[in-house]
Amino acid sequence: MTARLGVIGAGAGAAAATYIIDHALPNAEITVFEKSRGVCGRAAARRRETGTTAYVYEYGANYLKDADDRVSSLIVGKFNDRLVEVEGPIWTFDTDGTVSEGRDGDARRWTYADGITRLAKHLFGATGATVERETRIADVYHDIGWRITDTEGGAYGPFDALLLNPPAPQTADLLTDTDVRAVDRLGEAAAAVEYRTVWTAVLGYDFEIDAPYYALVNADKEHEVGWIGREECKPGHVPNGETVLVVQASPDWSTERYDDPPAHNIADLARHTAEIRGDQRLADPDWADHQGWRYALPDEDVQDEAVRAAARDGVYVTGDWVAGEARLHAAVRNGLKTGDTVADSFQEGP
Ligand SMILES: Cc1cc2nc3c(=O)[nH]c(=O)nc-3n(C[C@H](O)[C@H](O)[C@H](O)COP(=O)(O)OP(=O)(O)OC[C@H]3O[C@@H](n4cnc5c(N)ncnc54)[C@H](O)[C@@H]3O)c2cc1C
Repeated sequence: MTARLGVIGAGAGAAAATYIIDHALPNAEITVFEKSRGVCGRAAARRRETGTTAYVYEYGANYLKDADDRVSSLIVGKFNDRLVEVEGPIWTFDTDGTVSEGRDGDARRWTYADGITRLAKHLFGATGATVERETRIADVYHDIGWRITDTEGGAYGPFDALLLNPPAPQTADLLTDTDVRAVDRLGEAAAAVEYRTVWTAVLGYDFEIDAPYYALVNADKEHEVGWIGREECKPGHVPNGETVLVVQASPDWSTERYDDPPAHNIADLARHTAEIRGDQRLADPDWADHQGWRYALPDEDVQDEAVRAAARDGVYVTGDWVAGEARLHAAVRNGLKTGDTVADSFQEGP
């Protein structure tokens, strides 16, 4: 019998799990439902074109860190087309404006020349899975199998199993009133996972800045700005002689100003950036972009027992909040591991 799997969300975790399941069970029918137009979720990139000039920038996850052997060897060994190493170290700054050398050792950090979303494009592209984009799932329930419906009234299933990848609060919204006790309990456990909010400004300048670092991170966590990254340190992202800064506000600032007019927020973050760098030209970018991430970074992991109990009823979850680490490599690692678990359970019989 053909195993049928429904995957909700096309983030890096789901992409890794789909890759593993598809390879372990080539006959499985896997359908992925993603609410956005693109894949890779919070590991997000945009392309900006002006005339003959093109920019690529990442406004969610900044890179994939070389911090997990299984993830790193898969990426370097198999999904290395357009893979590039981020050049330069990460330095720190404090609330009083002191910039200091060094943090994070000499770990390698990767992205792709055409944007970090290439990671999920590579993984899904190596499978026979169908990816339904712009399909937001609204409801999950069970009768002869697992069924789901989208916000437009589209109905899908029955599936032998479901794999959910949205951030915990959005997964929790889907796992209520399924009438399968262990699955509703997983929904409750997911609802308990707290998140930090991050508001990102992308600031473009038609001049080059000179800096000995790729990025600055706020070490004492007291500043309104949490992170300033230089996209020009990523090969292929920024034309020579120009600068693109990705400025991520602190969780407190981001929560307080989440719904403020974007132009005000961009101006404030540009002003802070100019002060931290001691370069007033940075207060006035030539162009800017922005993105608010309500559920940016999970602060904790979901209760493990709830995850295992729901799996026995055919409902699996994957992502950084399942891994217990708000990092892209952790989401991929968890996707690979969850993929193994789903494939094993199908091999034992759906
Ligand atoms: C601002 C910011 C900066 C970060 N910086 C770093 C960094 O420097 N380094 C690092 O390692 N990590 C960083 N991270 C964390 C990293 O982005 C995440 O850990 C990782 O991308 C999580 O992947 P995931 O698979 O768990 O889920 P996600 O990427 O959240 O994917 C979930 C997917 O589910 C989809 N979805 C949600 N609801 C539905 C629905 N109802 N129906 C269908 N689809 C749905 C979403 O659109 C999304 O595509 C950062 C994150 C943010 C936001």
